[in-house]
This record gives sequence, C-alpha cells and structure tokens, in this order.
Amino acid sequence: MQAQDRQKQIQKKSVFISCIVPVFNEQGTIEAFLDALQQCLASLSDRFEIIVVDDGSKDKTLAKALSFAENRSVKVIGLSRNFGKEIALTAGLEHCKGDVAIMMDADFQHPIETLPHFLQKWGDGFEMVYGLRRDRKNESWLKRNFAKIFYWIMTKCTRMDMPAHAGDFRLLDRKVINAMNSFQERTRFMKGLYAWVGFKKTAVVFEVQARRAGESSWRFMKLVELAITAITSFSDIPLRIWGLIGFVISMIALVYALFFVTYTLLYGVDFPGFPSIIVSVMFLGGIQLLSIGILGEYIGRIFTEVKQRPKYIIETKKNFD
Ligand code: UDP
Ligand code: MG
Repeated sequence: MQAQDRQKQIQKKSVFISCIVPVFNEQGTIEAFLDALQQCLASLSDRFEIIVVDDGSKDKTLAKALSFAENRSVKVIGLSRNFGKEIALTAGLEHCKGDVAIMMDADFQHPIETLPHFLQKWGDGFEMVYGLRRDRKNESWLKRNFAKIFYWIMTKCTRMDMPAHAGDFRLLDRKVINAMNSFQERTRFMKGLYAWVGFKKTAVVFEVQARRAGESSWRFMKLVELAITAITSFSDIPLRIWGLIGFVISMIALVYALFFVTYTLLYGVDFPGFPSIIVSVMFLGGIQLLSIGILGEYIGRIFTEVKQRPKYIIETKKNFD
C-alpha cells in the first residue's frame, strides 16, 4: 500500500487495527486497561480488534478478560499454561486479521496515547514503528546495566540493528506480520526477529510509565535465560570462538614443545616442570568443559527444534469465528 493510500485510510478511519495484549497475572489492571484501549482504538478507526492472549495466568485475569469480551470486539485466547511473553505475542500475531498489528503490555507501562503517533508513522510509509523508551529510570540498576552489556554483546555477535531501548511495544504492517508468522522456530527472541525480517522502520519516543498494579514478572534469571536464547539463536560466534582459542593454544603448545626439545638437547633433562603441568592441565580442562557447555547450549536448541512440538497450546478461545 502506498503512503498516500494509507493516509486516506487513516482519515477515513478504515485501517483495520489489531491490538495484541499478552497478559500474565494482570487481574488488577486488565479491565481498566482494555476499557482505555478500546476507547483509544475507537477514536482511531471503525475497524479494530483487541486480542488478549492470556499466558496461563494463575489469578482471575482470564475470567475477567472473558467477561469483558462479552458483546465487545475483544477476542480472547487462553493458552494452556505459561509459555512466556514471546510465545504469547506469537499466538496473537498468528491470529490477528488487521492491516496493522500493535503489541502492547497490559500494565499501562506503554502509554496508550502513543498509538496515534504509531499510526501516523505507518501512514508516512513505514512498515514497522517501534516505541523507544526515553530512559529506563523505572527499572532497577541491575536490569539496566545487564541490558547495556547484553546489547553490546548482541550487536557485536550478530551485526544486526537492534535498538537498545526498544521493546515489544510496536506497530507492524501486514507484510511484517506475515513475515513474522512464517518463522517456525520454537525458541523465540522477538527483538531479534524484528531486526531479522528487515523492512522500513522508524521509532517513536515514549516515556515508560509506572506499573499500575501487580508486579513485573521478569526475574533476573529469566532475563539471563532470554539473553542466552537471544545469542544462541542469532549467532554462531560463541561456537567459532573455541576454534580460534584452540588454534592459538595449539600454536603456543607447538612453540613450547620446540623450546622444550631444544632446551633438553642443550642442557639435558633437568627440568622441574610439575607446577606448569598442573596449571596447563587445569587450564585446558576448564576451557574444554566451557566449550562443551557452549556446544551443549546449541545442541539443546537443536533438540527443542527437531521435536517439532507446537509453539503453544490453546485452551480457550472467544469471539473468533
Ligand atoms: N507477560 C506474559 N507472559 C509472561 C510474562 C509477562 O504474557 O510470562 C506479559 C505481562 O502480563 C505484561 C507484559 O507481558 O502485559 C510485560 O510483562 P511485565 O510487565 O511483567 O514485564 P516488564 O514490563 O517489567 O518488562
Ligand atoms: Mg511491565
């Protein structure tokens, strides 16, 4: 679709907008959030759908979403257990029908007032519009710095353009939605996939709001896990490093052996080498275990992929024809 046609559609309020909201234990905010979101979408377009993906909540989130969906253009997908936000978003993308899809959190951290700006940028001809956090002062010191190191490693390893302060708060054009839906991988790092698919992208800056209720479900270990998934599913540099290290160590060993032989020929076998043997055995043992661990990380990924299990299981569905 040309930018002009898009502008016309926006003016006629006829852009079909799908809004995808993954929720996990959000009983405190879900109703107020859906209410506010619905009002905003209705002001933007006459055609929209809200897809709530309940990611196996343990509280009353699903029940509240289902009762909210009565007589409204809200669709609900209830996953059979907690699959994680990446998979919940995937389920939403695979079920949306819109010309554009907007993904946002249900805890009011992503301001609803940003949506018109997203749509405007789409009207300007961009296929993907992502929200860029102005600053991360709402996040803990640990999370902020971990994110910094992580993005540094990620850009070094993958050479992909992954803006550090952008998250899942995005608008995707239908072309991008289709591209995203063509991925069959089970371990998903969405931000990597957004970068991988390409297309014309632009940013809209927004201020992260405080969470209205409940608490963030991101534990530090979960972030570490996501980081490992991200790196292992987008880069094979960790595997290659060991080839390089192995080569360097072999070269050093060769030089050392030559030196040793020459020394022995010249001065005889009087060579007290016990500590150096212990040190090199331990050093090499450590390196070997580490590299096996990294190999294992990749084999683990291959294992989950070859099993060909479905990405998610849906238990409940409401308002889908
Ligand atoms: N979420 C989800 N599945 C999960 C964890 C979180 O669907 O396993 C949802 C959650 O309900 C929220 C969004 O993802 O709508 C962002 O989660 P959260 O606010 O806990 O993360 P943070 O904003 O702290 O990064
Ligand atoms: Mg949040």
